[in-house]
Amino acid sequence: MIPKSFIQDLLNRLDIVDVIERYVPLKKAGGNYVACCPFHNEKSPSFTVSQAKQFYHCFGCGVHGTAISFVMEHLGLGFVEAVEDLAQSVGMDVPQEQRAGESFHKIAPDLYEVMQTATRYYREQLKLSVRAIDYLKGRGLSGEIAAKFAIGYAPEGWQNLSAAFPDYRADTLNETGLVISGEADKRYDRFRDRIMFPIINVRAQVIGFGGRVLDKGEPKYLNSPETPLFEKGHELYGLFQAQKAIRAGQRVLVVEGYMDVVALAQHGVDYAVATLGTATTPYHIQKLLRLSDQIVFCFDGDKAGQKAAWRALENALPYLQDGKLISFLFLPAEHDPDSFIREFGKAVFERQVAEAMPLSGYLLREISSELDLKSQEGRNQLLHRARPLLSAIASPVTALLLRKEVAAVAGVSQAELEALFEIKPIAHAPRPSLKKATRTPFPVQRLLLQCLIAQPELGAQMPAGWHGEGADADAIGAVLSALREAGFAMSSPALMQMFEGTSYARALSQAEADMLAWGESFDVAAEFAGLISRLDDGQRREQFQALQGKSAQSGLSGLSAEEREQYLHLLKR
Ligand SMILES: [Zn+2]
Repeated sequence: MIPKSFIQDLLNRLDIVDVIERYVPLKKAGGNYVACCPFHNEKSPSFTVSQAKQFYHCFGCGVHGTAISFVMEHLGLGFVEAVEDLAQSVGMDVPQEQRAGESFHKIAPDLYEVMQTATRYYREQLKLSVRAIDYLKGRGLSGEIAAKFAIGYAPEGWQNLSAAFPDYRADTLNETGLVISGEADKRYDRFRDRIMFPIINVRAQVIGFGGRVLDKGEPKYLNSPETPLFEKGHELYGLFQAQKAIRAGQRVLVVEGYMDVVALAQHGVDYAVATLGTATTPYHIQKLLRLSDQIVFCFDGDKAGQKAAWRALENALPYLQDGKLISFLFLPAEHDPDSFIREFGKAVFERQVAEAMPLSGYLLREISSELDLKSQEGRNQLLHRARPLLSAIASPVTALLLRKEVAAVAGVSQAELEALFEIKPIAHAPRPSLKKATRTPFPVQRLLLQCLIAQPELGAQMPAGWHGEGADADAIGAVLSALREAGFAMSSPALMQMFEGTSYARALSQAEADMLAWGESFDVAAEFAGLISRLDDGQRREQFQALQGKSAQSGLSGLSAEEREQYLHLLKR
């Protein structure tokens, strides 16, 4: 647990312009800085950085956040890692505070060193093993590719790592998952007689291993367990090596195994990554959509591959974005990408990639499979299967197209389908524009929220009992209670950082993005004072109307003495 006060100090110390400039060249434009957005593909710059307010916002794709969020998004790091990275850049030490009953893992730098040492050891062992070298050669891999992926070999035997680690009983070997502690405190190497594929994060650190048997043997693939360094659902094998090619070509190929990634790279297809013994998670999909415009899932032709593909589709639906393309490549049942590219070569394989089935086609094919669409029953069944899938889609254009297609196949009109599914019709697909997204029926609340973001200390002046309705009002309520807890001493970036990833983040970032339009002469405190007095007026009017209603019903005598006094007082105003 990193103390909140440290996050605030860190954000105070950093300048977001310096942080972003390390990765993206910025140009001064008026009071702000701009660049072509690193998170989506564009020709003219809509990525804006406010030095005065210390946040970034993209008017094209909507990314938004603080210096910490930028490093998380851009490097694909977790929060703690991003904070550590930034703290180091300004020479601050990240303190750890342990709450009672809460266990925490500080990722000690020596865990990374342990993994580095193990990688070196396995690579040396590869050079010494004719059998392992022959195996890789037999799979058509060159020494160059083996070096690029730092491939190694874990020899046969139970405690080989003791040659690389003088203290074979060290906790770090256990924590990194390199050894297994058995009964009676006996230890042995996890990986034995396996080709070793280091799993490397985007900061070039080895965080885990995948080991593959050379001949027959079970399991065929063995991964490092989850450790403080390695979270399977978040990592993709080969992303470190492929990220440049993925950004450049704006497409990424997702395959099932490390051998596929390496074999594809050997044949010049250098934009492939693999999941690590897990299904494709929503986290993977979001990460890849940030890097590129197109994801092609290429799973094995067998049953398991088909199942994996469908899981990927289901997990992708909520994250579909207009302008991004997700498609599926199904190889012949007897092939995986490794065997396919070895047999047919790069050109044939890439033609397959180019002709991959778009997500919508795959979805339609699957939900209509084994149905007799000529019968009423079959068409009902189709609608039944389509409903949960269609309602999971957030992207307007994709949703519209799919509804049209499903309606056509089911023999109903689009309007009928929408009525049936109780979904809001989409008259035309709106381009996601900031203006539309931020339009709000309560401009007063939006401005109030903006004032609180700009100068959190103003929260102390909010009238007690304030209430409102809608997303902005909810956000104001949440912000106020956070500020109260902090004694109204919180900086604006720290406040925004605190709400990142919460249900209020959307309202907050939209409100903050609109603040880019504020001129330099915009007086936040004066604006806020004006709003407060309008709120007071509104409240008085409400009160007055309530009392007036009561007295109209039962006369002034129906009011208590206190109410009567209040009524007369309000009447005078
Ligand atoms: Zn963008």
